[in-house]
Amino acid sequence: MPTPTLFDDLATLVAFPTVSDRPVTELVAFVAHRLEALGFTVERFASPSPGKCNLVASIGPRGTDGLVLSGHMDVVPVDGQPWTSDPFVLTARGDRLVGRGTSDMKGFLAAVLHALEGFAPSDYTRELVLVWTHDEEVGCVGAGHLADTWDTAGRPLPTACLIGEPTDFRVLRMHPGHVAVHVDVTGRAAHSSRPQLGDNAILTAARVIAVVDALATDLRARRRDDLPMADPWVPLVVARVHGGTAINIVPDACRVDLGYRPLPGMDATAVFAELQERLDAALGDDRAKVHAHLGTVTPALLTPPHTPLAALLRPDAVDGVEVAPFATDGGHLARMGTAPLVFGPGSIDVAHQADEYVDAHALAATVPIVRRLVHARCVAG
Ligand SMILES: [Zn+2]
Repeated sequence: MPTPTLFDDLATLVAFPTVSDRPVTELVAFVAHRLEALGFTVERFASPSPGKCNLVASIGPRGTDGLVLSGHMDVVPVDGQPWTSDPFVLTARGDRLVGRGTSDMKGFLAAVLHALEGFAPSDYTRELVLVWTHDEEVGCVGAGHLADTWDTAGRPLPTACLIGEPTDFRVLRMHPGHVAVHVDVTGRAAHSSRPQLGDNAILTAARVIAVVDALATDLRARRRDDLPMADPWVPLVVARVHGGTAINIVPDACRVDLGYRPLPGMDATAVFAELQERLDAALGDDRAKVHAHLGTVTPALLTPPHTPLAALLRPDAVDGVEVAPFATDGGHLARMGTAPLVFGPGSIDVAHQADEYVDAHALAATVPIVRRLVHARCVAG
């Protein structure tokens, strides 16, 4: 069978509708088959959710400091978007290759598959590891599971790590994270004709929200002007409130959902800890009615400048900002001992949109870039 073209590979990946609420296992099976034929050892790391797993494929001497190529296999939904062709059928329109995930980020994954066809198993003198994750789009969940269970000491990864998110070939080395916090407030139900017999959970939640709002104001004052960001502080937002069941019942429960974005270099859970302390101080005896807990934690990314990978990328990199406005798996990959950089074909501006596309020339240009990186890190010398 002839080697599939880059277009064929991208078309195949796009055709797996790996929206985050769907399984990713069929795509993993296709990729595993391809990589095993190239001599890779493929491992599947199952996640708690059914039909979900991360793929780790490696070749070359274990534990040597070669290269990690990482990407997520899931895509965002297409529901309600005005697509002009089937989002899961790759369609060429002039220079544009249109389909869900072409930019974010199956284009990069296809380019990697295609680039690796150029190497034989005996070429590798240092380890090349592919870390391909699930459910990045819903809070870097797959990478989080992988990092939680990864044996960093027993199974060291190469430090050089490229995440091929669509950056239009800018090299990004930092981004904020995202942390979800859920606050459950309990009260006591009563008929609204005798509210004095109840304990209104929404009123207690209102006090919680006031504490959150004061913290948000203080966080905004703690500017980090040393970071090259437009808004260098931690935004903290009350995003959702749910409480009460009927107009004539004193509510016995209220849920408040918050989100904040830790800055690069920040401990992801520090703001949560500060919120807990402030709730202790503000609520007195009512504190017992309030249970705050962490939801999905996506750590920020802060990779130092001037890493060997940054130097290798320089000839192909477009100059520009070093901060990604979006979170990636990079924070979790850093927990696994790597120093990730984010760099890839396509634009975040068209990701998640109807008629998402990657420029065919940019995609084609990615193949020799990947080959050059693999050669420099894992083959030469
Ligand atoms: Zn992405």
